[in-house]
Amino acid sequence: GNTTSAQALALENGEYNPFTGKPYSAKYKSILKKRRDLPMTQQRDEFLQLVHDNQTMVLVGETGSGKTTQVPQFLLYDELPHLKNKMVACTQPRRVAAMSVAQRVADELDVQLGEEVGYSIRFDDCTSPNTMLKYMTDGMLLREAMDDPLLNRYSAIILDEAHERTVATDILMGLLKGVVHQRTDLKIIVMSATLDAGKFQQYFDAPLLTVPGRTFPVEVFYTPEPKADYLDAAVEAVMDIHQNQPTGDVLVFLTGEEEIEDMCAKVMARAEDQQWSGKMGPLLALPLYSSLPPQAQQRIFDKAPPPRSPDGPPGRKVVISTNIAETSLTIDGIVYVVDPGFAKQKVFNPRVRVESLLVSPISKAAAKQRAGRAGRTQPGKCFRLYTEKSFEKELQEQTHPEILRSNLGSVVLQLKKLGVENLVEFDFMDPPAPETMMRALELLHYLGALDDEGEFTDMGRAMSHFPVEPQMAKMIIDSHKFNCSEEILTIAAMLSVPPVFLSPRERRVAANRAKAEFAHAQGDYCTLLNVYHAFKGQNEDADWCWEMYLSQRHLKTADRIRGQLLRTAQQQQLPLKSAAYDDPMYYTNISRAITAGYYMQVGHLDRKNQYSTVKDQQVVRIHPSSSLDYTPQWVVYNEFVLTGQNFIRTVNAIQPEWLFELAPHYYDLEYFPEGSAKRELVQVKSRMAVLEKERERAAKKAKKKAK
Ligand code: ADP
Ligand code: MG
Repeated sequence: GNTTSAQALALENGEYNPFTGKPYSAKYKSILKKRRDLPMTQQRDEFLQLVHDNQTMVLVGETGSGKTTQVPQFLLYDELPHLKNKMVACTQPRRVAAMSVAQRVADELDVQLGEEVGYSIRFDDCTSPNTMLKYMTDGMLLREAMDDPLLNRYSAIILDEAHERTVATDILMGLLKGVVHQRTDLKIIVMSATLDAGKFQQYFDAPLLTVPGRTFPVEVFYTPEPKADYLDAAVEAVMDIHQNQPTGDVLVFLTGEEEIEDMCAKVMARAEDQQWSGKMGPLLALPLYSSLPPQAQQRIFDKAPPPRSPDGPPGRKVVISTNIAETSLTIDGIVYVVDPGFAKQKVFNPRVRVESLLVSPISKAAAKQRAGRAGRTQPGKCFRLYTEKSFEKELQEQTHPEILRSNLGSVVLQLKKLGVENLVEFDFMDPPAPETMMRALELLHYLGALDDEGEFTDMGRAMSHFPVEPQMAKMIIDSHKFNCSEEILTIAAMLSVPPVFLSPRERRVAANRAKAEFAHAQGDYCTLLNVYHAFKGQNEDADWCWEMYLSQRHLKTADRIRGQLLRTAQQQQLPLKSAAYDDPMYYTNISRAITAGYYMQVGHLDRKNQYSTVKDQQVVRIHPSSSLDYTPQWVVYNEFVLTGQNFIRTVNAIQPEWLFELAPHYYDLEYFPEGSAKRELVQVKSRMAVLEKERERAAKKAKKKAK
């Protein structure tokens, strides 16, 4: 029925939780008080009115106004979806945001996380049959749409952080535009942090609700000269704030886990140092990035440390975060922002088929958003670690939507599975370049996922069930042909988690020595397999992991992912076969199976001792993290890393003959670019032909003899 905010408020202010029947806790009541002040709460009636009158609406509001936490609850109280056996979904581009916000809203509703409120991210489903509100990554909802194209499980779908324009959100927008015609009971709410609402409104032809923000002015400071090392500059900036600025917490934006941990250690070390002087208050540096375990993520919401003595200088909290804190998560109490101006962003070069995460300058819009984080609770300051001139001249206005800079292999596979026949006619908000689309179709055709007419094959259907890139799916599906299904499942899982090898800066030598114990002569894929086997052999022991410089957490995640990949394979009744460990072909089989999936990612060592990728002929080097201690002539690689130099990461030695055996259509030399790889391959091919002739002759001879 159509409810009003007054009805909902009465329920929320009551003594009993209408969803569980239990009395409300004290914690609930104290959070409720804070929620009443959020700008979103003030517009509850307007929101409900628009939802009742429209199927789709766009909602724009300043970060921290209560969109993500409150709007799904408004819908719960209005729709009571659980009575109709339905749920409210709220998508997030980032896993951390989905997990963290779900926890927060579970607290706000006074329920257990995973019960009435849950989350679902790749390889981690924290929901139950009781779940009525589900926070999930946009990628997960897209996956669900493949099996349930009308999304019948949901009464309302909220696409949050739409301004991020991830590929998954873009595709979902296109799909939902169609679904609303078939499901007139379904509500769609598109939420965005920036003011670029016009574009969404036009695309959906829907009404707009703007939630006025409540922010304080933020003073922006630039560095007079460009900084050589932004990490060092950021440490200096934080220490300077701590010494010279009034009370207030600090938020620093860096690009990834390694940098963040590094800076946390540096800041903590510096803070310890200054304790000697006794003049500074305590400093607490807290990291925030996606692979952090949930409890550690929640720590960013802790209060700053208290002063050391009652009248001592105040303590300060420094949160060092990836982009997550830009719009997805709001940390109250931040007064200072340190912005080096970089983020890891996906870039794709369709010509050489390379997609990579590259540290690149952020946009002006992102820089403004970051600065705004300092003015949430009082006037703040933002220290940009670049010059005003480079802000004006070098930063783009907006970041390009991800779909324009991604490898679309997985996406096209999913669209096919969703029944989108004609990709060119799909209603993209920003259509990807035709060349990118062509590359994706070509890739899937090579992998046997699409036939000559562009229709889904059995292989394609099987591949689409695995939440991994198409090459990896192909490797898993074909593994039984090479008698190594168990091993390939392990390798796929190990490749799906962050690197398991730890390498603390001050103990790098010892860490490398430990790593060398797992090194396998065929390469890193086999090394990963060794690590996993050893981990299981040690019963996943924490002390052992610590001694061997391995991340127990990532290894445990890999183990869980392995289980899920195995279940996916079993559900589809894919054949699984493995040879015994003492089979002389054990490791060769594995390398061949990897090649069956990744034969488009092969590097060749030329006479100048330089690797280049075959076909695309990019000069590359094997990443220094590799466990290989020699340079095989042919390698298959898992990842192309674009940094200052081009690296290939996670490599295994292969035999060039396999390329012709496993992928004759791709290694058709007639269409191969001239170069050293081709020259070499031509020779390999003629050698193979000679051997083949000899084999035939021998067979004939044997036959004659037998007669
Ligand atoms: P929006 O989606 O509009 O950016 P949110 O709904 O995420 O805003 O957050 C609204 C407010 O809820 C924040 O300003 C913050 O005060 C509070 N909040 C959100 N998450 C947490 C949390 N995990 N711990 C404490 N407070 C939180
Ligand atoms: Mg939000």
